[in-house]
Parts: sequence; structure tokens; C-alpha cells
Amino acid sequence: MTITQDMVTIPRKLPEGGKVNLVGLTRDQLRDTLIDAGTPEAQAKMRTGQVWQWIYQKGVRDFATMTNLAKDYRALLSENFVIELPELVSRNVSADGTRKYLVRIAGGHEVETVYIPEESRGTLCISSQVGCTLTCSFCHTGTQKLVRNLTAGEIVGQVMLARDDLGEWPAPGRAPKVETRLLSNVVLMGMGEPLYNFENVRDAMKIVMDGEGISLSRRRITLSTSGVVPEIARTAEEIGCMLAVSFHATTDAVRDKLVPINRKWNIAELLDALREYPRLSNSERITFEYVMLKGVNDSDADARRLVNLIRGIPAKINLIPFNEWPGAPYERSDWERIESFADIVHKAGYASPIRTPRGEDIMAACGQLKSASERARKSRAQIAAESGLA
Ligand code: SAH
Ligand code: SF4
Repeated sequence: MTITQDMVTIPRKLPEGGKVNLVGLTRDQLRDTLIDAGTPEAQAKMRTGQVWQWIYQKGVRDFATMTNLAKDYRALLSENFVIELPELVSRNVSADGTRKYLVRIAGGHEVETVYIPEESRGTLCISSQVGCTLTCSFCHTGTQKLVRNLTAGEIVGQVMLARDDLGEWPAPGRAPKVETRLLSNVVLMGMGEPLYNFENVRDAMKIVMDGEGISLSRRRITLSTSGVVPEIARTAEEIGCMLAVSFHATTDAVRDKLVPINRKWNIAELLDALREYPRLSNSERITFEYVMLKGVNDSDADARRLVNLIRGIPAKINLIPFNEWPGAPYERSDWERIESFADIVHKAGYASPIRTPRGEDIMAACGQLKSASERARKSRAQIAAESGLA
């Protein structure tokens, strides 16, 4: 298995004409940055709070409109800083209301962000990396060669772009909206393995959770990992969000092929880490994601093995009908098969929702995210070889 981490790193602060972008700085970093630019230390805490609220609660991008700051302080801010989001390249709206955003980040790379409206909530699926260093054999993103970690600003920037598009910032002079939000949940289920970009993901989620800003509760944020075992306890302690795990198989032999990181941390080691998660993060249950692949992992015996493996872990099993992509080496399980699998899991006492594929007409579904601009593509043979399917 090749798990490479030779990613291009770019500075956290993006100097634009010498100016520092404030988006993505943690509160402490923002405070230090304001002091560096000449804010007196005695005022730093207050100024940090004010600027923070303008950026994350009110969605303001222009220092000139920060009316509770003195004119000369506003001038100092605009001389030194910018409030910049990644660039929105395009927006596709599916027949079912799903919106897919193509977002360009520094260096000209592109990532995808997907907004999924539902009756009682709206979920934004965000990316944490361009591409992914892992090579899960059923995942389109895994076929993309180029990888770079997103900065915290680029991660929180996706949430801010979506709020722009949904018109979700309060009108000037108005309090933040309290009614049901259009963007009420965030899932780290787009491109990339979030736990291979831990610090930036953590900082971005801290910003999204901050009560004086976007203010999403940690229970409304779900991080999905393929199983980076050493970072799981840290996720509980330092982020405290909900956890989803790409389980997908019930034997190491099959999981080795589907989710090659299993060769590094196998099912037993993964389950040990997951058992500890609810206690460490004070969260209720873990979501087990299980992609349904015809004839590979979808038998009744698999369903029974699955419930035996996870016994004792508060869990929900999310069954994901495989989203096919051109050249994929698998097929989606038949509907009756998925239902039979769901039934066994359900009878064992676990919620087993079958995820309705959304946004398929715009290629916005799980695992289909892959930027069209990244032409470099692994061949089918290469995917098969790397996943041990050959
Ligand atoms: N890298 C992380 C998060 C991104 S993938 C992870 O692997 O968990 C989000 C979810 O979509 C994962 O459960 C992933 O296994 C699943 N997925 C990937 N490709 C898919 C496909 N073609 N069809 C259905 N689900 C897929
Ligand atoms: Fe990466 Fe997740 Fe896709 Fe695996 S499923 S290749 S970890 S994005």
C-alpha cells in the first residue's frame, strides 16, 4: 500500500499583496496577528472579539463597514489585512435541490462542496484536501493523483461561501437568524481524509463552532474518517464532534482491498479506538458508513458479522448504495439485497438508514467528488493494483 504524505504545503496566512488573510485564524492567532499590526495589547481581546463577530457572525468582508471600530483602526486593518474566501467557480443545482459548488483555492486547485437540503435541516458536505492520499478502490476521489491539504481558511471558507449563496448572513444591523437554519449541519465527507489534515480541520471546526460566530453545535458536525486510528482519540479531545467511520467490510481480507488503510490499522485496532470515542468526546453514537457493493460486502453473513463486531458500541449504520462512476470496478448492490442487509442490522437493534442518493444528476453524490480540472488520472489498472484487486 502506498500512503504518501508528500503534499505541497503552503503558508497558513496567504499574503495577497503583502496582506494577511484573517479567515481561518483561530481566536489566539487572530489576537496575535492584530497585535503584530499595532493593536495595543490592552485592547487586543476586545478588538479580536469585534473583528471576529464582523467576519463570522455578520459575514462582512470590508473593514470599512465595521462601524463599531474607530476610522483610523479600520484603516490600519485594511492596510494590513484582507478577509478573503476561496473563489466560487461554478454552482450546479440538482433537480432535487442539492447544490454542488466548485471552489478554486490558491495554486489554482479545485475542490467540491455540496449542499443537501432536507425537510428539517440543511447539510453542507465539505472537503479537507484536494484529492486524497488514500486509494479506496470504490472511491472516485482516491483516483485523483494530486493532493494538497486545505488550509483552515479554505475549509471554513467553504462554509462561508455556502452561507453567501444561501443568503444566510443577517441583514446589516440585524441579529443573527434564530429560526431553522438553511445550513444547519456540516459533514467532513467531501474530498480528502480529514484526519490526515488534523490541525487545519480542527482549527476550522473550532471557528465554525464558536458561539460568537457561525455557532454550529459540535453535535451538528460530523467528521468521517477511513480509520486513521492514532488520530481518533485526539479528534474526541480536541474537536469533540460526531464521528463517522468508513467501515465498509466485515473481514480484514475484504477491508484490506476496499479501504487499504486497513493494512496499517486493522478492524480490531479500529474498533478499539471507536469504543473509546463516545466517552472521550461525550457524544452519543458513532455512525458506521457501509457502502453496498454487489457481491463484495453485501451478504446476510456480512450483516450478521457486522453487528457482532460492533456490539457494545453505540452506533448507527448508514448504508450507502454505491455511487457508480465511469471505470469503477464495482456495481451497486440490488435494492432487495440492501433491504435484507438493513433488516438484519435493524433487528439487532441498530438504526440502519439507507442513504438516498442525492444530486446524482450533477455528480454530487458521496465519493464522486473529484475536480474535473485535475486531468491527471490513475488508470483502472493502477487503482486495481494499489487496492490489491489485481
Ligand atoms: N475520507 C473520508 C471522508 C470522505 S468520503 C472517509 O473515507 O471517510 C465520505 C464517504 O463516502 C465515505 O464513507 C466513503 O467511503 C464514501 N464513498 C466514497 N466513494 C463512494 C462511492 N463511490 N459510493 C458511495 N460511497 C462512497
Ligand atoms: Fe480518501 Fe475517503 Fe475516498 Fe478513501 S473513501 S480514497 S479515504 S476520500
